[in-house]
Amino acid sequence: MSSTISATHIHNFSVAELSQKLQSRQLGAVEVAQHFLDRNEQFKDLNCLLSFDPKTTLDQAQLAQNRLDQKDTNFLLGVPLAHKDIFVTKDFPTTAGSKILEGYRSPFDATVVQKLADAGMVNLGKLNCDEFAMGSANENSAYGAVKNPWDITKVPGGSSGASAAMVAARLAPAVTGTDTGGSIRQPAAFCGITGIKPTYGRASRYGMVAFASSLDQAGPMARSAEDCALILSAMCGPDTARDSTSLDIPAENYSINLNQSIEGLRIGLPKEFFGEGLSPDVRQAVDAALYELTQLGAKLVPISLPRTELSIPVYYIIAPAEASSNLSRFDGVKFGQRAKDFADLNDMYQKTRTEFFGEEVKRRIMVGTYVLSHGYYDAYYLQAQKIRRLIAQDFQDAFKQCDVIAGPVAPSVAWSLGDKNNDPVANYLADIFTLPASLAGLPGMSIPVGFGAGQMPVGMQLIGNYLQESRLLNVAHRFQTATDFHLQAPKGY
Ligand code: GLN
Repeated sequence: MSSTISATHIHNFSVAELSQKLQSRQLGAVEVAQHFLDRNEQFKDLNCLLSFDPKTTLDQAQLAQNRLDQKDTNFLLGVPLAHKDIFVTKDFPTTAGSKILEGYRSPFDATVVQKLADAGMVNLGKLNCDEFAMGSANENSAYGAVKNPWDITKVPGGSSGASAAMVAARLAPAVTGTDTGGSIRQPAAFCGITGIKPTYGRASRYGMVAFASSLDQAGPMARSAEDCALILSAMCGPDTARDSTSLDIPAENYSINLNQSIEGLRIGLPKEFFGEGLSPDVRQAVDAALYELTQLGAKLVPISLPRTELSIPVYYIIAPAEASSNLSRFDGVKFGQRAKDFADLNDMYQKTRTEFFGEEVKRRIMVGTYVLSHGYYDAYYLQAQKIRRLIAQDFQDAFKQCDVIAGPVAPSVAWSLGDKNNDPVANYLADIFTLPASLAGLPGMSIPVGFGAGQMPVGMQLIGNYLQESRLLNVAHRFQTATDFHLQAPKGY
């Protein structure tokens, strides 16, 4: 099908607009897929896609077009997206950003991938990320760093760095990401896009390469809350037979409450999120956004999350502990790569893991093994679990005074490539505002609210109580109806 719409517009359409154009036959699914494939070829220096297979993508687009031609009205039919390379896929290799999985192909699709394919979305390929999703800058990928399209000398954030860069550069209208300690929210903030991590258990973890199982959660990243709502509605829902922590609650339509008034909404501002560590440029953009929300009828309420600072040591004990256990499956026997020369089984394990795991992954495995070992378990792991429980309780106390919580996503805008590369602790500290909601299992989102130092995007975080995704998307959408930060594109894209 050839269209009357100029190709320059296709990548600027939102998910909602693309869908409308596909349904009304102003655009064809194959034409749209080809356009985005060409664009990805053109901007491959950003290093977003780790695998790319035009034939597979175009075949999926043709199938979507067949459904459209049969008057199937599924809203996402023919809309392209790309998946973070943490989700296993039958049609594309899956690496999790690691050399140890180079060449690995899964015999099945992750539930999230399957659900979005069933909805008729067309997969453009697999997105670069930090190795096993461990990182805050996408510099821990074994396949090279990703560049931030707002300034290619800056990091895109992590671990879903390529997911965020992809949407910001208009290389896909939407993507998937995963968030264990901030990996959807922080890169969304660094790249000026919108992303939501739902309540822990809301989207299935089946087929997501496990990092820290009690924290891992999937979510969509797109330009607007409206688009995130469309994709999140198709991603979530019970999968209890295959994911033991999947919530047995029916899928929801997150689009229906987007336009609700926020008159009288109480927005809690944790004083710990606005203290010394916060850069003034970020603070200024977040304050302006909060003022905008008051113009829309919301009330600002001072609250406290007293254990915010503890979330860093707590997370950096629990996440590595779980990772050390989850990553034991990569031993050269069952998946991916194996060292060439070895004397016996133990030697093979050791050489395989030494050769194919990156530095950060090894660091986490060692920390995790240490905090779980006999004699240290009580002092570290058990203690961290107790504080985690108190952090969750702090949120419940706060939600007695407010309906949603707002604050910055990260203490600063995106830093320069290489800046914190050799300093793991500097990376860990930058997670301070995203970790508390992760530890509590709460839904959180990031929306673009302006620009800070070096004209880099600033994100504001919204945190809701359990299963309040719809409320978060509503607040974000109202904000985006009144502002245009989410519509701005980096120069040259
Ligand atoms: N930056 C955090 C880490 O390195 C969070 C990563 C994530 O959410 N996957 O663990």
